[in-house]
Amino acid sequence: MAPTPSSPRRRPRRPGPRRRAKAPAWPRRLAWFGVFLLTTAALLWGLHRLGYRPEAPPAARTDRSTAKPAPPRAAAPPAAPRPAEAPPGRTPPPSAPAPAPAPSPGAAPAELHAALPPGPPPGPPVPRARPRVALIIDDIGYDRSLAEKLIALDAPLTFAVLPHSPHRKALARLADERGREVLLHLPMEPREYPAVDPGPGALLAAMTPDELLQELERDLQAVPFARGVNNHMGSRLTADADRMNQVFSVLKRRGLFFVDSRTSEESACRSAARLFQVPFAQRDVFLDHRPEPEFIRRQLSALVRLARSRGEAIGIAHPHPATYAVLREEMPRLKEELEFVPASRLARLIE
Ligand SMILES: [Zn+2]
Repeated sequence: MAPTPSSPRRRPRRPGPRRRAKAPAWPRRLAWFGVFLLTTAALLWGLHRLGYRPEAPPAARTDRSTAKPAPPRAAAPPAAPRPAEAPPGRTPPPSAPAPAPAPSPGAAPAELHAALPPGPPPGPPVPRARPRVALIIDDIGYDRSLAEKLIALDAPLTFAVLPHSPHRKALARLADERGREVLLHLPMEPREYPAVDPGPGALLAAMTPDELLQELERDLQAVPFARGVNNHMGSRLTADADRMNQVFSVLKRRGLFFVDSRTSEESACRSAARLFQVPFAQRDVFLDHRPEPEFIRRQLSALVRLARSRGEAIGIAHPHPATYAVLREEMPRLKEELEFVPASRLARLIE
């Protein structure tokens, strides 16, 4: 009898859960526990697939967010998420990869910061784009001590030495030893001649071609280390095309370049340089025809502006005490902005 009452009680319950057929009382819980285990297992399996999230919170999430369309398809194989993580990281070990990539990007800057302090050579910003300036100091050969100070300035200035001047050889040698370029400062007849005398060795309009060439040869021999020539005065002679052609034929033969001081608006030097294919340049700014500090500073500013706009410029100055004082004071600032170069660097063939 006991079985019958118990059986009807069980029967109504049987149709509900299927597995209770085997289990009397506690097996029911066991079955629920089994279901719980299965569910947990399923959850764990699912979590296993998604398990990379917790391991690599920042990096993996961003990867997934970007690759969201892909994960659903490739969610089944665990290989799918790895390739997505591999690119950002370095594809190291399987389980550690996720954490590895995240710290590595974060650690990289730290390493950089650690590397920066010891090595202060991150100073490659100084670009080659600095405008180039050649500054020629004319009329060298008389005031020796002032010339020596100018040569000692910390910039490769160019020194134009007057022929037959008392200190020409010593100063040309000194300049050359210091790596400063030397020019023959060639005296030529000005319009105001003879009221204004260009001095010994001058090329004059009254000279025959032979006389002129002989004078030029003597001048060239008088200044050692000269790699080029610029004119001292010469407002009359540089406007004389025939005389300039004679002069430039000699420069060509000797492999010298020429810088036109531009003392005449009608200078024939450029066309002579083109004719004989002599490297040529011309003065842009006179710095000190008024040897006053304020004027010299303004002229320097004009030279700098021109160099900025054109990329290069040529200035001419003279051995005045005021010129030296201003150059010495301004040189550090000028060198930050400009690249001083020998005059020959700005001389080029004219086509
Ligand atoms: Zn001069």
